[in-house]
Amino acid sequence: MGKIADLLKIKISKITRGEIKVELTFAPDVYEVLKHEATNFQNEIAAIGTAEFEDGIWKVHIIKIPEQERFPYLVRVKEFPKGFNAVFHLHPYGVQSFSRMDYEYLNQNYDVSIVVDVTGNGMVCVRDNENEVFIVDGFKLKWL
Ligand SMILES: [Zn+2]
Repeated sequence: MGKIADLLKIKISKITRGEIKVELTFAPDVYEVLKHEATNFQNEIAAIGTAEFEDGIWKVHIIKIPEQERFPYLVRVKEFPKGFNAVFHLHPYGVQSFSRMDYEYLNQNYDVSIVVDVTGNGMVCVRDNENEVFIVDGFKLKWL
């Protein structure tokens, strides 16, 4: 698990759409795994972290890859570790939106859920205090 200082070194992407702002950072070791998966895609992969709403921005730090079952179009986190409220996951080329399974297994369990395909295009699902879900599309992550 990366230290906070490490996390802040990698600022990958930022979206501003309407009133929802998301800033995404990764622990370097987790980022390397995800980037490798993006360039050699075989199965979906999910990573988790924390999200804090601060100064009108969802600050998301992805720091851990939990135990999971991986398939080309599906990922199932075996157990949702406590203390994490953000999830990031990777889809095959061209699949830039959430699947029904994503809603059931990922979006329901996290306050912020981010999906991108291997090119880095995707969307974000954010849950508010009333448990209402907002989907923001047009998210772009640039693999460094
Ligand atoms: Zn998915």
